[in-house]
Amino acid sequence: MPAITNHMPTAELQALDAAHHMHPFTNNDELAAKGARVITRAKGVYLTDSEGVEILDGMAGLWCVNIGYGREELADVASRQMRELPYYNTFFQTTHVPAIALAAKIAEKAPGDLNHVFFASGGSEANDTNIRMVRAYWQAKGKPGKSIIISRKNAYHGTSMGSASLGGMSAMHAQGGMPIPDIHHINQPYWWGEGGDTAPEDFGLARAQELEAAILQYGEDKVAAFIAEPIQGAGGVIVPPATYWPEIQRICDKYEILLIADEVICGFGRTGNWFGSETMGIRPDIMTIAKGLSSGYQPIGGSIVTDEVAAVLDSIEFNHGYTYSGHPVAAAVALENIRIMEEEGIVEHVRDVIAPYLAEKWTALADHPLVGDTSIVGMMGSLALTPDKAARAKFASEAGTIGYICRERCFANNLVMRHVGDRMIISPPLVMTPGEADILIERATRALDETYARVKDEGLL
Ligand code: PMP
Repeated sequence: MPAITNHMPTAELQALDAAHHMHPFTNNDELAAKGARVITRAKGVYLTDSEGVEILDGMAGLWCVNIGYGREELADVASRQMRELPYYNTFFQTTHVPAIALAAKIAEKAPGDLNHVFFASGGSEANDTNIRMVRAYWQAKGKPGKSIIISRKNAYHGTSMGSASLGGMSAMHAQGGMPIPDIHHINQPYWWGEGGDTAPEDFGLARAQELEAAILQYGEDKVAAFIAEPIQGAGGVIVPPATYWPEIQRICDKYEILLIADEVICGFGRTGNWFGSETMGIRPDIMTIAKGLSSGYQPIGGSIVTDEVAAVLDSIEFNHGYTYSGHPVAAAVALENIRIMEEEGIVEHVRDVIAPYLAEKWTALADHPLVGDTSIVGMMGSLALTPDKAARAKFASEAGTIGYICRERCFANNLVMRHVGDRMIISPPLVMTPGEADILIERATRALDETYARVKDEGLL
């Protein structure tokens, strides 16, 4: 077989891809018929494909390339670490400097007394850790009956059996055996889509109070934890009403329920603070982290826990751990990523410069005839496409039809913007400049115009 390289014709790469590579969350037959876009390199906020076309990455990969592509420092650190100690584990009375240094740095950055880290390779693994951890915690405290975890419909917490069970994605559950026992879901605080005539503040309170109702239904002595993303990401960048999180916090405190904030997307600057919990005023007992921890340059995630949770778990042997927990190369790269974020003031850049700039342009898209809701917090935003803004109406077509058209028009205009149903979502690299934000908005507007024209032509309005 000839060497497969960037220099091969695109069609040949696509054919080999279709023959051997199974893509995640993809109908691979449909993809094979169209051919996957082959990404060959990237720099800053731009991707380049095998045809030499530059694409503005409005999603930072999968919400992860927070410091942008092409940072040589991270490549240098990885290479140095691979030469010095490419791998060792932290089981069996051993440790190594990258894991020590990264855990200490995370403890410094995380709010309150979230001072202890259990490492994983990504968000799904870290959330699986959380399921095991909260149950082991309550057992160790002499309350083994507390094993139920409450989550939310349309939440995303990962794709393994445990983390997908925590998630509230019905299409995932429908493919078999999920949710696993003792995981229950309450409704999401999605006012634009589900709030009807209720005022947003009242709706936020009502949705939070579903947690209290669930605790009372299952019994306080049976409920271990509540898990949620500070701002839902993969569910469509859904920002809860301001009343929601304070009420959730009150309920978790009142009933002694551990609060898990899944910061896999919100963490490491995306919302304009180091953690989304700070932006939303949450005091979690456990935080899930991944993605922006290494800006996606290496697969690494983890669970950060408070002094109290750690003290309980440290008193037992917690029978859990991954071969790659605290992988030295991944840890060294994550540490360098955080160092760069600090040195370059990237969180401050988000908070003071680029997020306010982008927010102004993003919210102005509400003038577009197709756009209803324009939500944005920091560098994560969404647009609800609608045939009738005032009524916050859904399209008559199957959910996602118009969103998919819009995503295709974005693709054609060299912008990566995803759709979740008929919501369009962005999560660009945090290092974006105002000029690059202008280009994002320009391309998004063109894609919206083309979508509108097509929707009108095809009688889909
Ligand atoms: N939690 C959240 C909030 C996420 O958005 C994701 C990934 N999109 C995950 C967990 C799962 O992370 P991973 O894909 O690294 O397993």
